[in-house]
Amino acid sequence: MTIATKIEEAGFRPASRIASIGVSKILQIGARAAAMKREGLPVIILGAGEPDFDTPDNVKQAAKAAIDRGETKYTALDGTPELKKAIAEKFRRENGIDYALDEVTVATGAKQILFNAFMASVNPGDEVIIPTPYWTSYSDIVEICGGVPVLIPCDAEAGFRLKTEQLEKAITDKTRWVLLNSPSNPSGAAYSEADYRPLLDVLLKHPHVWLMVDDMYEHIVYDGFRFVTPVAIEPQLKDRTLTINGVSKAYAMTGWRIGYAGGPKALIKAMAVIQSQATSCPSSVSQAASVEALNGPQGFLKERQASFKHHRDLVVSGLNAIDGIDCRTPEGAFYTFAGCGGLIGKTTPAGKRIETDADFTDYLLEVAHVAVVPGSAFGLSPYFRISYATSEAELKEALKRIAEACGKLA
Ligand code: PMP
Repeated sequence: MTIATKIEEAGFRPASRIASIGVSKILQIGARAAAMKREGLPVIILGAGEPDFDTPDNVKQAAKAAIDRGETKYTALDGTPELKKAIAEKFRRENGIDYALDEVTVATGAKQILFNAFMASVNPGDEVIIPTPYWTSYSDIVEICGGVPVLIPCDAEAGFRLKTEQLEKAITDKTRWVLLNSPSNPSGAAYSEADYRPLLDVLLKHPHVWLMVDDMYEHIVYDGFRFVTPVAIEPQLKDRTLTINGVSKAYAMTGWRIGYAGGPKALIKAMAVIQSQATSCPSSVSQAASVEALNGPQGFLKERQASFKHHRDLVVSGLNAIDGIDCRTPEGAFYTFAGCGGLIGKTTPAGKRIETDADFTDYLLEVAHVAVVPGSAFGLSPYFRISYATSEAELKEALKRIAEACGKLA
């Protein structure tokens, strides 16, 4: 469960659907670190979930051209025909899946795709199986939609991956969805075809369970890892799988707010009903930019991978050199989820005992001025997440400070 600040202001009674939901720990830490920076403290923020490079120039030019052409009005409800075509071609070219245009939907970020999908399909009490550690929004969105997140712990020893027996055990008559994310935010762990296969076999035995896959970090994988998405492995699941993706991470377009998905026509239609009452359509200019992102040159993706891999190696070896920290080498994304179990129970120079991963990350922020996010924010402790989508100089300095701070624990 996310560590949340409850929304309790005098004179305001929040709706019960958000009673247990609040601003995520990631945003809280980001705000605190930014405030410390404004006070002049040399804080290094390794908490952000976005690439540190700029949107490619051809994409920016396409947006400017769309404005000049007057593409500044409402568009078709769940995506322009041009963007849906580019997405269908992307699914064919990169994933080997055929989605017709009415099996494709576009929204204001993959986050809205998730929201539309759960709003359109989950009834009160319906269960959604989510392996932990998980991207914090998953369980909160499910809860807002009246569903029940069923969180399954998958620790470093399990490669942060769900096991077949765990899935079998978690499925009930009320299970509506299983939600898988590969490569994962926050662990960077990814499912190979061999990892996916037994899980998909379990799903084949349970026709009432639908599969939602979040492939957001598809293009950020290392060491020759072969990304594959479940429908390409098991076409029989196509009529009950929603394959989610977006331009935010691969094309450094987090602020453009475009996410998309392929799935069964009836679900896609129901999601459009929700969208029609929420945002009417995604931004026209961002959609034009996304057509160029998907159809334009893709060569820079490999270059970015090489740079991210260099950062990953630096961080993983730097963390593993510290006593009490244990860091698995992730297959993808730009995060590592390091274990800090060896530091629990130690005492800081100020005499405070480190009881939890949040105590440890608070200590790092206060003493080393390095902002990272505790595992508890992602539903699994004792760990912490580092985002390494930042400069090599900052990463080296941060690792040095973390090592020094850990060395002072007794
Ligand atoms: N899925 C995952 C796993 C993510 O990490 C994020 C962003 N942090 C999203 C989905 C949402 O991306 P967006 O809304 O920017 O498309």
